[in-house]
Amino acid sequence: MFDKFREECGVVAIYGNPEASKLAYLSLYALQHRGQESCGISSSDGRELFTRKSMGHVADVFTPQVLGELPGDHAIGHTRYSTAGDTAILNAQPFCVSCNKGKIAVAHNGNITNAGELRRELERRGSIFQSNSDTEVILHLVAHSAERTLAGALRDALLQLEGAFSLVFLAEDRIIVARDPHGFRPLAMGQREMSGGKISTVFASETCAFDLIDAVYLNDVQPGEMVIVGPEGVTRERYTPEQPLSHCAFEHVYFSRPDSIVFGRAVQESREALGCALAREAPADADIVVPVPDSGVAAALGYSNESGLPYRQALIRNHYVGRTFIEPSQAIRDFGVKLKLNPVRHLLEGKRVVLVDDSIVRGTTSRKIVRMVRNAGASEVHVRISCPPTISPCFYGVDTPTKSELIGANNTIDEIRKFIEADSLGYLSLGGLRRALADENHNYCYACYTGDYPTDFVHIEQLLSSKKSTLSAH
Ligand code: AMP
Repeated sequence: MFDKFREECGVVAIYGNPEASKLAYLSLYALQHRGQESCGISSSDGRELFTRKSMGHVADVFTPQVLGELPGDHAIGHTRYSTAGDTAILNAQPFCVSCNKGKIAVAHNGNITNAGELRRELERRGSIFQSNSDTEVILHLVAHSAERTLAGALRDALLQLEGAFSLVFLAEDRIIVARDPHGFRPLAMGQREMSGGKISTVFASETCAFDLIDAVYLNDVQPGEMVIVGPEGVTRERYTPEQPLSHCAFEHVYFSRPDSIVFGRAVQESREALGCALAREAPADADIVVPVPDSGVAAALGYSNESGLPYRQALIRNHYVGRTFIEPSQAIRDFGVKLKLNPVRHLLEGKRVVLVDDSIVRGTTSRKIVRMVRNAGASEVHVRISCPPTISPCFYGVDTPTKSELIGANNTIDEIRKFIEADSLGYLSLGGLRRALADENHNYCYACYTGDYPTDFVHIEQLLSSKKSTLSAH
């Protein structure tokens, strides 16, 4: 069964730098927030492709020794959030194969919504799959293509895919990247000047990766565009006719880093605008505004500016929470949240608090945080969320649970308020979100807030049924 619904990822690609794998490593380090379960890099020395991938964080996996095993001037990298378990490493990317089009590695951010159908057809024609990831389908489509060149075969493959994909490919002497025609997930293009004035071309899910490696952001890979970087230079081509855009609104609400430019817009600017709009739409009679760090910080700033209520960092986050910690044998209430967050009692005591966060998914974490703030002495806790209620799962690359588990899908706002034990609860409206993103031209996907999916519904139905069986199989 495909592991379609756990595909939060970051991708990078570096062309034409003798330290390509080190630059890929640094870029992945900046994209760690996009996936913390596994990571990998493939490099090319012009003849051979080398791949190293493992479960774990970028800084732990890529030791100097491992990076030394990734020679060459070109590299791609991937960081992934996946389900835990034995098969997770099989799904770690990049995937690397040798086929009739040469040696190719691929890394993918997004979800291919017709991967099940494509895989069945490929298996009927003799393909043998090594993983249950939808990304592997792309390599088989390339191998099966009647086109003779790699770019031709890729074009052929891309035209058969539906859904969300920002893809980076590595061949012996080139990098090819592509984005789905709706532009669900981001993919930025940049340049890095080396000593001697030589230019190397770089790509990354978010521009914060460019900052770390001293690269300059040029523009985005356009939806429906394929960019080929090889010895002959850079070629940009549209591989499919223009289609309506569906940029993921949640990238701006939560997923991307605030220091990134995503879909050509500064994420920090969006988040502050979300907070301002939230203060206008859902004011609160309160004393202080407190963010849930880190996800609520920028929106809380906007809320504070607009409402005039002072901003207070009254929840402190421990940034060093690893995957392994020793749990006490006796139950400690809300242990998981306490590991990550601790309240500043003297800021909260006796205060009416506006607690700002970006979203409520199941409601369980939010309830623990509300309890924590109240136990630290707050007299009232007013929760404000900087987007509309999440009522539908994402099929395009954000990890959301099934509808039955989404508290917003099955409860009224007041029922959610009661569940999270808040004195009041306010969400931003869809119109407010759209305005904060400056989305006059309807270029964003809001499916998780509306249930209105921008791609073919037939496939969504199939995904819904396969999602149920995927979940029950785990
Ligand atoms: P809960 O109250 O359990 O629904 O958790 C809400 C928290 O989960 C918020 O602080 C969000 O920032 C965070 N969150 C929302 N979406 C995701 C996601 N896809 N992955 C991880 N955390 C998320």
